[in-house]
Amino acid sequence: MTRRSYGGTLLTDEQRQICALARQFALEELRPGLEERDAAEERFDRSPVDQLGELGFLGMMVPEEYDGLGLDMLTYLYALEEISWGDPSVAVSMSVHNSLPTQVLLRYGTEEQKDRWLKPMARGELLGAFSLTEAGSGSDAAAMQTQATRDGDAWRLQGEKLWVTNGASADLVLVMARTDTPDDRRGSRGIGAFIVPTDSPGYVPGRKERKLGLRASETVAVAFDGLVLGDEHLIGEPDRGFGYALEALEGGRLGIAAQAIGIGEAALDHARDYAEMRSQFGKRLRDFQAIQFKLAEMATRLEAARGLMYRAALAYTANEPRRRKLSSMAKLYASEAAMYISREAVQVFGGYGYSREYPVEKLFRDAKVTEIYEGTNEIHRLIIARELYLERGLDQ
Ligand SMILES: Cc1cc2nc3c(=O)[nH]c(=O)nc-3n(C[C@H](O)[C@H](O)[C@H](O)COP(=O)(O)OP(=O)(O)OC[C@H]3O[C@@H](n4cnc5c(N)ncnc54)[C@H](O)[C@@H]3O)c2cc1C
Repeated sequence: MTRRSYGGTLLTDEQRQICALARQFALEELRPGLEERDAAEERFDRSPVDQLGELGFLGMMVPEEYDGLGLDMLTYLYALEEISWGDPSVAVSMSVHNSLPTQVLLRYGTEEQKDRWLKPMARGELLGAFSLTEAGSGSDAAAMQTQATRDGDAWRLQGEKLWVTNGASADLVLVMARTDTPDDRRGSRGIGAFIVPTDSPGYVPGRKERKLGLRASETVAVAFDGLVLGDEHLIGEPDRGFGYALEALEGGRLGIAAQAIGIGEAALDHARDYAEMRSQFGKRLRDFQAIQFKLAEMATRLEAARGLMYRAALAYTANEPRRRKLSSMAKLYASEAAMYISREAVQVFGGYGYSREYPVEKLFRDAKVTEIYEGTNEIHRLIIARELYLERGLDQ
């Protein structure tokens, strides 16, 4: 069932089977309902994500002792790529859940917190979300205002978050909130990470954003209106939450690279098939050199993106000092490749590419967000440039 060799990587048979299962799920379960889910943008259908959970895809990198599949980053990314090839809106749920709340709980949660939340998340029984962004703090995330105030043995949350993927339908959200006080602001060292069950009194999701792409994905604002949490909801140290979030986002970015590669692969597949089928001037489109050059460029950028993601995933797994730079590079390059490939796919389809009756306009819309979330590409260029200087001397 696998369609490719995964770049000649040394995947075990088990890892290949997992990727093949993801491909089969994408083909049989995600592709058939794709247009309907995109068109019904005001309704969020969680069932494809729940089905992924039943297959184990929501606990891919969680060790078996915590009820996960215990797989490595690369296998996870290849599986995510397949899911994104099927439906990028489902892929973003899989990516956020696996790489953000799950990883923070795994690294910094207590054994009690892991029993209570991580294990059911890994089994796919609880869906997790992640909430950092606010109206006044996007790229400058440490400027957030949501306040967690100590109240006896508890924490009281007040504030509003924006752009929370699955913010209404998830079972729990990892929320970053200020734990410093208004008269003693400590920037990124005054932020805590809290597990917030979405059925907590005072957790108030807003309406679903109406978006350019990823319309089948739920993105909402969330207000915390005097929400009270016990200490068991605080992850790790009360002033280290921002660091935990940034660390998780390093891996999260690789997930966005995989999502972008899945979009690029889907757009290239459609363009190649269409160029074979459509004729003008008595020739198939694929016989025009101008179209051949487009397909060649699209395929080359796709493979380059995949190669860079592979390199970055190995650096991440080996905890190499260059992993941060590489994960920014992988996300940056793959998202721009997805944008390029989907735009060229629309061009190969001509006027039909602009029609909602054909699949590539949706991929073009879906691709754009990969240049924006989990750090905009401008921010990734800044990170890469900074790391170039920081790493000087690593090899000396
Ligand atoms: C569909 C979707 C889902 C999302 N899901 C989540 C989620 O689940 N959880 C969550 O917390 N967030 C989520 N986000 C938020 C996302 O991470 C932010 O939108 C992103 O980080 C950018 O922040 P911003 O929108 O406030 O843009 P801004 O930070 O206001 O940036 C605007 C522009 O200015 C540029 N810019 C900003 N600072 C600099 C600088 N120093 N140098 C150069 N250029 C700069 C940016 O690159 C961008 O081009 C989601 C966003 C979208 C669109």
